[in-house]
Amino acid sequence: MGMISDAQIEKVRESSDIVEVIGSFVKLMKRGHNYVALCPFHSEDTPSFNVSPDKQFYHCFGCGQGGNVITFVMNHEKMGFVEAIRYLADRAGIVIKEKSPADSAAPDVKDRICYANKIALEYFVKSLSGTSGIKAVNYLKSRKITSAVCKEFSIGYTPDKPDGLIRFASEKGISPEVLTAAGLSSKFDNGYCDFFRGRLMFPISNLSGRVVAFAGRALREQEPSKYINTPDTPIYHKGSQLFGLNLTKDHIKRQKRALVVEGYTDFISLYSSGIKYVVCSSGTAFTSSQASLLSRFTDNVVTLFDGDAAGLNAAERSVGELLSKGVEVLICLLPEGEDPDSFVKSKGAEELENFVANAVSYPQFKKMTIGKSLRQLSVMEREKLVQEIGGVINRIGDPLRKKLFTDQVEAIFDFPISSFLNTNPKEKRKLEELEGGVSNRVMLEREFLSLLAQSGSRIAEVSQAIAVECFTDPGCRIVYEKMIEEYSRLGSLELGKWIKMNVDPRITETLAGMDKVRWAMMPAAEIFEDYVKRFRNDQNKTLLRDIKDEIVAAEKQGDALKASDLQKRYLRILAGGASR
Ligand SMILES: [Zn+2]
Repeated sequence: MGMISDAQIEKVRESSDIVEVIGSFVKLMKRGHNYVALCPFHSEDTPSFNVSPDKQFYHCFGCGQGGNVITFVMNHEKMGFVEAIRYLADRAGIVIKEKSPADSAAPDVKDRICYANKIALEYFVKSLSGTSGIKAVNYLKSRKITSAVCKEFSIGYTPDKPDGLIRFASEKGISPEVLTAAGLSSKFDNGYCDFFRGRLMFPISNLSGRVVAFAGRALREQEPSKYINTPDTPIYHKGSQLFGLNLTKDHIKRQKRALVVEGYTDFISLYSSGIKYVVCSSGTAFTSSQASLLSRFTDNVVTLFDGDAAGLNAAERSVGELLSKGVEVLICLLPEGEDPDSFVKSKGAEELENFVANAVSYPQFKKMTIGKSLRQLSVMEREKLVQEIGGVINRIGDPLRKKLFTDQVEAIFDFPISSFLNTNPKEKRKLEELEGGVSNRVMLEREFLSLLAQSGSRIAEVSQAIAVECFTDPGCRIVYEKMIEEYSRLGSLELGKWIKMNVDPRITETLAGMDKVRWAMMPAAEIFEDYVKRFRNDQNKTLLRDIKDEIVAAEKQGDALKASDLQKRYLRILAGGASR
């Protein structure tokens, strides 16, 4: 292969245990003789990624990826062969003698891009301490970023010159073509120029700690974009990296949770203050690949965003992505005007940890941001809210988890959101299996009847509010009818004899189902109210749909008065008022 001898490659391979290496990127679980994990190369819910310590091989039965420790590092870290060998050698403490990969003989463009980034880092760090770096140094001072921190994170500066890096790199044997492939320079008709100019530079590393890209912060106020990033290259896609994860992944694993912040300086401040289970999403949007990357190290995430509108939006969008990867998310919003960086600097790490301890679940977060109860909202606001929450709920793949989350939403909002969601039939079936064969709806009806059987005196009142037709299950309908009839005839509820005599399978099944319902304590009046409300809501849902159709028809005919009357009725029903 020319650059590294076969003997050296063999030595590196032998000194790198596949379980140990892969285990530093993926959460491995021991199963029998082998290890399994959720595959890092494709999206899945059950682990089909296998690692064999005996054969020193990995294989995924889901997507077919497989190989040895070297191929894993190449595929996972998007490294060329030479870069992968160098990385593993570093790890194992082996010194490799090789020629510069910038040589034209270098086999892989990825290796050359990696090398270009390394040289660029040298240039940026050197420039920060040079005379032109004074403005950057002053900015860092104003943000209370010490020189020790600059050193630890290799923060640099790029002078406002068209070809500073191009000249520096060419002295190291890197051509402008390679620099452009690395996203560090741009090609114009009459030549090349530096991509980053006059900016503070933050190097971005992949999981193995290699610099793969940069983020440049503008130092002039009038600059159109505050931050620009290296464009996508063969080794870097902005949406799939998490800044700082290479430094914090072990802390995150150990503490079994991660704190997500938006900004590079937020990350740096928290990390330097001793909060090490942190990671940075580099901007507002949290992408699906970032979520699956993070889910490999923990399934507990707290998002810590600014207390402004942008922070609110970012939190909103992160939640769906993380929940869809099976990660539990709590949301922590800072007081308005604060960001994690300013907060930790003015109040300290302990105070921030205390603040984070008060993070809330998504439904609680929604309730807080709305600031009033659901029934005080307008129709439009309420519809929007149901859509937003429904959108998040529908991202949750696991049916049991989905149900628990939905229950939580309903409890917090006192609103039967599940009846407004489109459950796809396959998931519904799964859920029904979990609950012992009957649908949610039938369960609900049986629960209600069981409750009613215990508080017979309420029948008169309930029969006024809930029509027999509300029950979708034939067995439940018959039992409900029988209850009403018994009560109006006897003034009390005595189903004993009727129950014993009954052979209709629909009824015996319903009664058995009712009997299975276990109440933790004697049902309080409140629980009863909840069920009545719930049934009323379902009843109203059908009614509302009809009224909506009527409104549309009235508007088509130009009958504004009728439409407005219908609209009022619609609102009244939605607010939980009379249905007629
Ligand atoms: Zn796979």
